[in-house]
Amino acid sequence: MSINVGVIGTGNIGQDHIRRITQALSGARVVAVTDIDLARAQSIAKDLGGRAESTGQNVIAAKDVDAVIVTSIGSTHEEYVLAAIAAGKPVFCEKPLATTAAACKRILDAEVACGKRLVQVGFMRRYDAGYRLLKEVVTKGVIGAPLMAHCAHRNPTVGDNYTTDMAITDTVIHEIDTMRWLLDDEYVFAQVLYPKKTRKASKHLADPQIVLLETATGIRVDVEVFVNAVYGYDIQCELVGETGVARLPEPSNVLLRSEAKLSVEILTDWKKRFIASYDVELQEWIHSVASGKISGPSSWDGYAAAVTADACVEAQKTGKIVKIELGSRPALYHSTVI
Ligand code: NAP
Repeated sequence: MSINVGVIGTGNIGQDHIRRITQALSGARVVAVTDIDLARAQSIAKDLGGRAESTGQNVIAAKDVDAVIVTSIGSTHEEYVLAAIAAGKPVFCEKPLATTAAACKRILDAEVACGKRLVQVGFMRRYDAGYRLLKEVVTKGVIGAPLMAHCAHRNPTVGDNYTTDMAITDTVIHEIDTMRWLLDDEYVFAQVLYPKKTRKASKHLADPQIVLLETATGIRVDVEVFVNAVYGYDIQCELVGETGVARLPEPSNVLLRSEAKLSVEILTDWKKRFIASYDVELQEWIHSVASGKISGPSSWDGYAAAVTADACVEAQKTGKIVKIELGSRPALYHSTVI
């Protein structure tokens, strides 16, 4: 059985996901698309052999659309995800689930009221082969109980419109989700420190930053976020446990012997670093829609990430250690599937 998908938002990642479903993955096809820029949607629909709908609500309501992908800008996610839940249709929503914790909570409440999981959030690092190996090491107890995690998220450069809080909401948000999932623990405190500023950053941007998180069981996670690191796009993660240390594998690349150097190229493009994980993520989503059992990052995960990000932004502004309070996790989200 092939799943008929409707896509809302045909910008960068929307077009990427459409290409994936159409050319790389199996079990689904895109039948309807929309975008605030209707001409863009129409041109993409024409290439696809699908149709363009004039609004996201029309995509969700369409009889031939079995499941929805939301890849419009973050501020529009709440409206579309809520509409998909109301229509009883599975919805894959790119991160963020919504732009405020309160909006994420409204989605959570709507899904709980509907009584079954319909929402998956696009935290694709959980589908990265290296992170999955790390997760296996932790779950099997190979390094004993985790005590600390050291992470780094480095970009070569960012545009002038990148602001200090975006280091949290756009960048560290991936570590916030991935480390919760790897450690199977919730955060309770956040703090942000500012090292010496790089001269490569624009005037209004604090760069680099160090984000410190503490989990309910006392694990300490530190994340260096450095978005003008110049040399490349570099993601690092090391878990220190009671009996050993586990490190995220480097992306595989050719080991070069040339010009009196032994070297491995470092990627500069974030899309290339996680390209395979997007494929695995969407393929697993298609399978879960077909089976009627939505798994993957949930509304609870989207909500927890939003609450934690808010605490980190407050910590940036106040310099204080900020408490993180999620409230109790509804039974619908008790089993972690991936
Ligand atoms: P983008 O290129 O700006 O695409 C967003 C598209 O949504 C644009 O075509 C935009 O049109 C359209 N849009 C705006 N308002 C809309 C509305 N009300 N209804 C329908 N479409 C609307 O951005 P992007 O880079 O693809 O990012 C989209 C989402 O994916 C963001 O939430 C982003 O955080 C997320 N994302 C996630 C990852 C990841 O690693 N998981 C990576 C990249 C992006 P206009 O351009 O005319 O405004």
